[in-house]
Order: sequence, then structure tokens, then C-alpha cells
Amino acid sequence: MEKVIVIGSGFSSLSASCYLAKAGYEVEMFEKNATVGGRARQLVKDGFTFDIGPSWYWMPDIFDKFFADFHKKTSDYYQLDKLNPAYKIFFEDDIITIGDCMENICSEFERIESGSSEHLKQFIDEAQENYDIAINKVVLRPGLSPLELVTKETVLKVDQFFKTISQQVRKRFKNPKLVSTLEFPVLFLGAKPNKTPSFYSFMNFADFGLGTWHPKGGMYEIIKAMKSLAEELGVIIHTQSPASHILVSDGEVLGIRSKGTNHLADYVVSGADYHHTETLLDKKYRQYSEEYWDKKTYAPSSLLFYIGFDKKLENIEHHNLFFDTDFEKHAQEIYDEPQWPTNPLFYANFPSVTDASMAPKDQETGFFLIPIAPGLEDTPQLRDQYYDIVMDRFEKLTKQTVKKSVIFKESFCVNDFVEQYNSYKGNAYGLANTLRQTAFLRPNLKSSKVKNLFFTGQLTVPGPGVPPSLISGKLVADLIIKK
Ligand SMILES: Cc1cc2nc3c(=O)[nH]c(=O)nc-3n(C[C@H](O)[C@H](O)[C@H](O)COP(=O)(O)OP(=O)(O)OC[C@H]3O[C@@H](n4cnc5c(N)ncnc54)[C@H](O)[C@@H]3O)c2cc1C
Repeated sequence: MEKVIVIGSGFSSLSASCYLAKAGYEVEMFEKNATVGGRARQLVKDGFTFDIGPSWYWMPDIFDKFFADFHKKTSDYYQLDKLNPAYKIFFEDDIITIGDCMENICSEFERIESGSSEHLKQFIDEAQENYDIAINKVVLRPGLSPLELVTKETVLKVDQFFKTISQQVRKRFKNPKLVSTLEFPVLFLGAKPNKTPSFYSFMNFADFGLGTWHPKGGMYEIIKAMKSLAEELGVIIHTQSPASHILVSDGEVLGIRSKGTNHLADYVVSGADYHHTETLLDKKYRQYSEEYWDKKTYAPSSLLFYIGFDKKLENIEHHNLFFDTDFEKHAQEIYDEPQWPTNPLFYANFPSVTDASMAPKDQETGFFLIPIAPGLEDTPQLRDQYYDIVMDRFEKLTKQTVKKSVIFKESFCVNDFVEQYNSYKGNAYGLANTLRQTAFLRPNLKSSKVKNLFFTGQLTVPGPGVPPSLISGKLVADLIIKK
């Protein structure tokens, strides 16, 4: 039986491990941290449960497909509920509530801009076509050749790769609040809407067409499900076991070294951050230079606060976006002139609003996220300064006092991303999906310098996010299985 060593235990590594084990490989996973899940780990404190990273469950079809490949259903592992409303967006002078179906969303659009619901329906119909092409065809290709992008369907939509999502949205909607609402989903791809091809409007279908879901107990339930599936399939998981070297002989991978011991294998797959993985190789075996990595466009890093509140909060939903400041200026401070944002947009998640299991009775679990440029200076003073900014704005916009109700707060920022995940410049979501960083233009799934060494995860194909990480694991497993 051939053996595969998998580095890391995030969504991509777990996915690759499951597919490889199912295909008959002996699979052993090495994770540096004490628990599995990577950026999707969990923090449990004083009865409060926090997802440390992802909190939006979008594209439920991709999770269904993953489990179906193993003759399982998501419901075999966790209970999934559709959120209604999906989320709420706070602007300076209004609140937009996104419901759980197009009918509700159309009424909300009409309230803001008369006649906009017809434009919205057309826009979402096109977005659905793009979703079918992207998710069922393009994204399932391993990014080895430019020809993979050329299909009957993409040729007909070639103009959408050269126009941006911003242009497409602004052509149809005048109200700036609706524009921001429709530009928000592509932020998950990690780049500015005016740098993201309009073909990526498939994210708007994911948002309005497929809806926002919540696994009871939080996103970590998916990690627990995948770990349990991997173990059922025979995968051996070692935690607190960092890979310190990738062993290579005559250009062929031999295995890894972890905690001073060599572990041999026929193949190595790394789901750890790509740049870090290459530093585990002798220089002559690295494919990309430091200059290459430095020039890439990264998805943002984040400043995060995990807060236990001693009361139920008012005027909030499960997911809340605070777009009461200048979207464009904040985006510039992330991508064009990296610096701590002057007046940041932020996101707040209160899973205990819909899921009582996430907080003690009559209390609230709160997660606040400010997107920031990767590589910024990260100090306790800066974290405190932004905590105050966010809390003051939150109190004002939701019309309540909350600071006095904080039982505890923990923060997570650039230095933690580097220290905990070996993340390049402390990026949170990997490499952005811009036109120049799509498919075959991304760091490759397969090493061109070391035989039988492969990569998976949010820095390679197809890109950032939980659903793409599941797909990335499948793509890399397929490359090995086909060999
Ligand atoms: C704050 C935040 C919010 C997010 N929100 C969402 C969301 O709402 N919805 C969504 O879909 N996506 C979201 N994402 C993105 C999503 O979480 C990621 O795209 C996905 O989890 C990445 O999985 P991965 O397997 O590529 O990498 P990771 O999860 O980073 O896994 C890599 C693993 O490798 C390990 N590792 C590193 N070096 C070594 C080594 N030398 N030896 C052994 N192990 C090593 C790390 O510890 C880690 O466990 C969010 C991410 C963050 C950070």
C-alpha cells in the first residue's frame, strides 16, 4: 500500500486525507497545533463557544457533495439551519436586512430604490449561470493549464473576465447602499470589487440564491465531522507534530521530519501555507522566490475579538455587517497603501442569537472582525485602540451599552496568524482571487521541482474560503490517484 503524509489539518488537508484514504492509500497527518482544524479551530471559554475563523456557511451544495462522495450526508454529522434573516447591514442612516429568499430581498431592495428588484432578479439569474459554470466545471479543474478555463460556456462569457464586478453592479444600481450590499460577497475572494472580474458574481448567487446556513454548535462541527470521517477511513492524525523538514533525495520526496524523527512516505501533500511549506525544503527545491511571494496580492489579515457578554444584546442578528464608513477608503488601506484603517468597516457575529448552545443562558457570544492589510505592525496598544473604536461604533449603531457587559475578551491578529499557522505576513484568508491570480496563475498544486510533492489549501487552487478548501483537497487527491 502506498503511503501519503499530509502536513496540516485544515479543511484542505482533511479533505485530501479523506479522498486519499478512500482510494486505498495509507494516510498519516501531521499538525503543528494541539487541535485539528487550522484557521477553523474553536475557542471554548466559560461556557461560550467561538469559531476562531470562518463563521459564514455558504454554498451548502459543496458540503453536500463532499459528504456524498463518502456515501454520507451532512445530517449524519451536524444539524444545519438556514438563517432568516441571513444577515443585517448597518449603514450610517439605515439598516438593510437580507432575508432568506429572493422575494424578501426584492422587497428590501424596492424599499431602498424603486425599480431595483427587477434589476436584481436579472443580476441573480446571470449570477446563477456563472455559479453553475464556475462550481460545476471550472473550479473542479486542477489549474495545470490555461486551456482548462476554455469551455463552451466560458468562451461565451469571456467579456465577464475583463469587466469588474463593481462595473456590473454600478451599471444596474444607483443607491450606494445597494452597491455595497452587492459588492460585499466578492470580499470573500480576498480582493477589491473593482479588481474582481464580473464572472465572480457567482458569489452573489451563493449569497442571495443559496442562502446563509448555520451548523448547530458552530462551524467547528464541520471540522469534527471531517476528522471523524477521516478516522473512519483509517487516517492517522498526529497533533502537536510540526513538520520541520521535507525530505528529498535526487529530486524525489522521501517524507518529512517531525520532532527529530524522519517519517517516510511515497507522497507528501502540504495544506500548511504554501510559502512556509517551501521553506521546509532546501533552497534548490523551492519553486517560487521571496520576490514572487512579496509581489502577490493577499487576501486581508484580520484583527479579531472574541467576547463573552453577560447579557443578551439588542438589535442584532446572527451575522451583522457595519458599513457605516467609507468602503472604498478602507479597501485602499488594505490593498493600495497598506496601513491601519482610519475608519474601518467591521463584521460582528453572534451565533448565540440563533443557537442557544453557543453561550450560557441569557448571555451572548460575540465575535468581531476588522479586515486589515497583511504584514502590518501588531501591538497590544493598537489592538486596544481598535477595540475601543469598534465598541463605540457598535454601541451607537445598535443603540445600547455593551462595554460594561464584557465578561472577557480575547484578541487575535497578524502576529497570531504567523505564530499559530506559519502564515505569510499573517494573512488570514490566503491569496486573493484576482484575474492574474486565478486557476493556472496561482501557485501550483504540484511541485515542479520535487517529484511526488503536492500542495493544497487557500494559497493554491481554487482559492480562499471553506468550500474552495474542500475542493482543493479533492483536486490534489485526484492528481495523486491518477498517477
Ligand atoms: C478570521 C477568518 C474568518 C474566515 N471566515 C470565513 C467564512 O466565514 N467562510 C468561509 O468559507 N471561509 C472563511 N475563512 C477562510 C477559511 O477559514 C479558510 O480559507 C480555510 O479554513 C483554509 O483552510 P486551509 O486548509 O487552506 O488552511 P488552514 O486552515 O490554515 O490549515 C493549515 C494547517 O497547517 C498547519 N501547519 C502550518 N505549518 C505547519 C507545519 N510546519 N507542520 C504541521 N502543520 C502545520 C496549521 O497549523 C494549520 O492547521 C475565514 C478565515 C479566517 C482566518
